[in-house]
Amino acid sequence: MKYETTALHPCLYSAFLPWRDPMQHRELLAALPRLVGIGILLRDRDAGFVQLDAQGEPVVRYALSRFDREHMRAGLAGAAQILETAGARRIFSSQTKWVAYEPGRAGNLQQFCRDADACGWSAGRCVYYSFHLMGSARLGGSPKTSATNPDGETWEARNLYVMDGSSFPCSSGVNPMISIEAIAHRNASRLADRLASS
Ligand SMILES: Cc1cc2nc3c(=O)[nH]c(=O)nc-3n(C[C@H](O)[C@H](O)[C@H](O)COP(=O)(O)OP(=O)(O)OC[C@H]3O[C@@H](n4cnc5c(N)ncnc54)[C@H](O)[C@@H]3O)c2cc1C
Repeated sequence: MKYETTALHPCLYSAFLPWRDPMQHRELLAALPRLVGIGILLRDRDAGFVQLDAQGEPVVRYALSRFDREHMRAGLAGAAQILETAGARRIFSSQTKWVAYEPGRAGNLQQFCRDADACGWSAGRCVYYSFHLMGSARLGGSPKTSATNPDGETWEARNLYVMDGSSFPCSSGVNPMISIEAIAHRNASRLADRLASS
């Protein structure tokens, strides 16, 4: 995993906030000008899956595996240490229960991590986001393992091209925009050449 600090606008922030009651939510939102968030970007090893339900609609299932959860837990402890070293007065997680401590005044890092474990890391226990979904129509060398050829043309239908984030062979684990642009530029140029010469 890696850390990322971003501009903390109210929409993003409120979606991550723990919720105990309206007054607490209001107090946390009012503190926004004095807050910083550290995002723990996890490059997960294990996947979820998609199944069709009885009506033929896709159902997505995803849960953090034990392996990936350990990385997330280490990420939380490290982020708290960074904030504590920077002089934060109060540190809380994005878990749905109130998991927090006030360095030097109430609680400590070890208790914070134990409280996070007690709250849990599964769906409904901790707020997770995904910003970098990739590889859902991956390019590759064989129809057995990919949806398109290396130029982005689908194996199943000629002249149908995919040139976006879904083309990645796997998750990049880092912010992907430049790589998406590079794939789109390369494959669009090759398609233009092909069309020009046909
Ligand atoms: C909050 C947030 C912050 C991010 N920050 C960064 C960052 O700092 N750096 C970075 O590198 N990446 C960042 N990303 C990731 C990056 O923005 C995306 O990975 C990238 O934009 C994906 O590009 P794309 O072309 O594959 O898809 P998109 O940009 O999602 O483009 C898909 C397009 O297809 C259109 N579309 C969808 N369905 C249809 C349809 N049926 N018919 C016609 N058009 C359709 C959509 O309207 C859209 O214009 C961030 C993402 C989010 C959500």
